[in-house]
Amino acid sequence: GTPGNHERSKGRVAEDCIFCQIAAGKIPSEVVYQDDRVVAFKDIRPVAPVHILIIPRKHIPDLTAITPEDGDLIGYIHLVAVKLAREFGLADRGFRVVNNCKEEGGQAVYHLHFHLLGGRQLQILG
Ligand code: 5GP
Repeated sequence: GTPGNHERSKGRVAEDCIFCQIAAGKIPSEVVYQDDRVVAFKDIRPVAPVHILIIPRKHIPDLTAITPEDGDLIGYIHLVAVKLAREFGLADRGFRVVNNCKEEGGQAVYHLHFHLLGGRQLQILG
């Protein structure tokens, strides 16, 4: 069939991307932080007491699509993750920042996102 949007585009915004629409405010979400580069909002199906998704406004389908020019952005997302971890009381307790990449990585939404998880004891990955 026709390739999905996530296979085609790495651009500013993708029309049929749910996270681009959340970033644009076209789909409601519980935004906890936003600026010109990133948006952070609560996951609709939280698996931990704190479960926040941090996304770039720029449509990047998955982690393999980043280029050297995205290096600052990826670092910046982690700075935002730590800022939010502090705000949500996780900085001393500990937390996890996770990216699921493509099918075997468990990625469901093809707009790059990092999960910030915490507020309970997390188990070993795998
Ligand atoms: P992935 O499996 O791709 O790493 O994670 C996608 C995450 O996005 C899932 O945890 C899922 O619950 C969350 N999600 C999917 N659709 C929506 C939505 O419309 N709103 C919000 N807030 N979260 C969503």
